[in-house]
Amino acid sequence: VRNQSLWTQDGIIKSPYKPIEIPNNTLYHYVWHNLDKWPERTMAVCAETGRGYTYEQAFKLSHTFAANLRKKLKIRDGDTVMIMLPNVPDFPLVAMGILEAGGVISTINPVYKPHEVQRQLLMSDAKVIVTLPSLIEVVKQALKLAKVDIPIIVVKTNGEPIPEGTIAFNELSEDVYVDLSCLKEVRRDSKDICFLPYSSGTTGLPKGVELTHRNIVVNCEQFNEPKIRCHEDTTDTHQDVVLAVLPFFHIYAATAIMFHKMSQGIKLVTLAKFQPEVFLHTLENHKVNWLFVAPPLVLLMTNHPLASSNTYRYIDNVINGAAGMAASDVERFLSKVQRQIRYNQGYGLTETSPVIALGHKDIEDYGVVGNAVPNTEMMVVDAELRSLGPNQLGELLVRGPQVMKGYRNNPEANADVFTGDGWFRTGDLAMVDENGVLKVCDRLKELIKVKGFQVPPAELEALLRDHPAVSDAAVVGVPHATKGESPKAFVALKPGKNASAKDLCGFVADKVASYKRIDDVLFIDSIPRSAAGKILRKDLKAKYC
Ligand code: AMP
Repeated sequence: VRNQSLWTQDGIIKSPYKPIEIPNNTLYHYVWHNLDKWPERTMAVCAETGRGYTYEQAFKLSHTFAANLRKKLKIRDGDTVMIMLPNVPDFPLVAMGILEAGGVISTINPVYKPHEVQRQLLMSDAKVIVTLPSLIEVVKQALKLAKVDIPIIVVKTNGEPIPEGTIAFNELSEDVYVDLSCLKEVRRDSKDICFLPYSSGTTGLPKGVELTHRNIVVNCEQFNEPKIRCHEDTTDTHQDVVLAVLPFFHIYAATAIMFHKMSQGIKLVTLAKFQPEVFLHTLENHKVNWLFVAPPLVLLMTNHPLASSNTYRYIDNVINGAAGMAASDVERFLSKVQRQIRYNQGYGLTETSPVIALGHKDIEDYGVVGNAVPNTEMMVVDAELRSLGPNQLGELLVRGPQVMKGYRNNPEANADVFTGDGWFRTGDLAMVDENGVLKVCDRLKELIKVKGFQVPPAELEALLRDHPAVSDAAVVGVPHATKGESPKAFVALKPGKNASAKDLCGFVADKVASYKRIDDVLFIDSIPRSAAGKILRKDLKAKYC
């Protein structure tokens, strides 16, 4: 029986929560709006080195950096600044400085190869890039490939020398002479774009996802619904601690850990690279009580020989997202913890800032997500976009103030994902029960997720087709015990040409981040395609996987 207050006659599923008022702030003003309450509190600290900033230091340094972005680097309202950094404590300072300077943040994975970086450099029209000294060669090669010459700012993390031709972040952020009044020229409002991550969405290559200030501010406020929020305020005697192990370059950590937690005075403990022992040690050492994870981390926390219930003695809240996970795996993890903690699943996409639905303390089934967050509607539809009822499997559509403005300069992709009446098509297969609780079941779209990271098949297929011996190629995701999925390639060779699986894997590996590597190739005569030329991935999966 449908809960009448949640399910409408037309199959729209409403959020059970009271609608929230949407602040009309920019993200910059929103994040700092409570700063006076906790200036002396640590804002971000590196788990390994202890290097970090208080809220007041972070505010002042990012303020000076913002002024220099405008003065020295000529950033103007709406200009893109690319951040290519791992989780270092300086990341939020850089991000806040860009926002204050009126810029748009475009984040990129620091393990990307030059080929991947140049694409985003060009597409985002970045005016400046911020990176680490150790990544300088990749950045320089990417700039060369893209044939662009933009300033490179480097964040020093251990007193290393500044590479030639770059500008040190600390020179820009500690500069006592800069004229701060230039920041008065900045004109940004809540409807402007502030964040431009890249996502392949339903099909094709990565596209720029235009998120406005309002999109992200709303998503932070949606977390604040009391039943979802579950944490104590920062006071003179208390400060929650969150481990920032998921990368800030992805929207999940950017919104849920960085912007949201900073707006509440929480301490971010950052881990720049993932080392299991350091990760586990940090949980205890820094008394981490909030943890955002993706499935591979939960498996590691369950199975690592160094992990015991003691490792998790400070943890109160674990939120899993980015990909689904079997309830039995969650149960094994919780029995390792041996304490009553909150474990919930969040669901969302880069295109939705990201959160659409999130669990709360009354959700006891670990296989489901939860209800839509406030101000958010869902609908499950069949292939003809006709709405379905409770517990029926179909594509999930969503409508809410956290849904992106659109893909940048891409009317076709926008026409594909937005319906005439303003619904966004997630490309995920899901069902919703009588009480509005969402369960994500599978992906309709071609996207592969490896350890929670996006691997767009179209990207790997294009690379394979660049090989002189390949006539056509298709890539699909196959289940993998620890990574969630892994990419498998189907390749048709040109007549009379030869290439081994090893050759092809190596050819791709040189151009992509390591998690995108293909380690399974099957040679077939021809790649099945529809009359319109679309690869029939489902047929390949059904026949060979
Ligand atoms: P991204 O844009 O990288 O955040 O990827 C979004 C996609 O990740 C979604 O469309 C889903 O396919 C998948 N995803 C995110 N959260 C979950 C979840 N809780 N369960 C299953 N899949 C998820």
